[in-house]
Amino acid sequence: MITRVNNKEIEVRCANYEICGAWFKIKDIEVKTWDICKKCDLYYNTRLYIADNKKCNLCFKIKRSVSIPSSSNYLCINHFKLLKQ
Ligand SMILES: [Zn+2]
Ligand SMILES: [Zn+2]
Repeated sequence: MITRVNNKEIEVRCANYEICGAWFKIKDIEVKTWDICKKCDLYYNTRLYIADNKKCNLCFKIKRSVSIPSSSNYLCINHFKLLKQ
């Protein structure tokens, strides 16, 4: 988990930062339990698995890709973001 302090508040970089780009604030007691932002919690409810050299299921290019939850397929980061908008 990557954290920073901003105005004395702890901010955590979302574990899915490559997808959502979010930093979020947490209370001290939440440090151990939250590593994804509220938006990711809502959309994915999990930490996404992102890996290099996987074939995107849409463009068929081998690049850094996201494992689609509940499936064995991958989508490149661009396509994964497009589908979630
Ligand atoms: Zn997030
Ligand atoms: Zn793609």
